[in-house]
Amino acid sequence: MQARGLALPVIDPGRCTGCGWCVAVCPPHVLSLHPRGGVKISTLDDADGCTGCALCAVRCPFDAIAMVRREKRSPLPDEV
Ligand code: SF4
Ligand code: SF4
Repeated sequence: MQARGLALPVIDPGRCTGCGWCVAVCPPHVLSLHPRGGVKISTLDDADGCTGCALCAVRCPFDAIAMVRREKRSPLPDEV
C-alpha cells in the first residue's frame, strides 16, 4: 500500500541552501540532498512514498519548499 498524499513538496533550487533540515524531518525518508551545480539541493526521491504531511515545508528555514496539490485520481464533488 502506498502512502500517496494530496500534495507534493516542490523545492525551489534558488532558495535551497542544502541545510538538510527537510531531509531530517521527513518521516518516510523520501528526501535527500543531491549535488547540483557545485551545491547540494534537496530532492524528492520517491513521490509515491511522500505522505504530503508538509513537515519539510514547515521546517525549511529558507522558505524553499512549496506544497503543490497532486493531480487528482478522481474528481472531487465540487469539480464534477
Ligand atoms: S530545509 Fe529548505 S533550505 Fe534546507 S535543504 Fe531542505 S529545502 Fe533546502
Ligand atoms: S511532505 Fe512529508 S512525507 Fe512528503 S517529503 Fe515532505 S516531510 Fe516527507
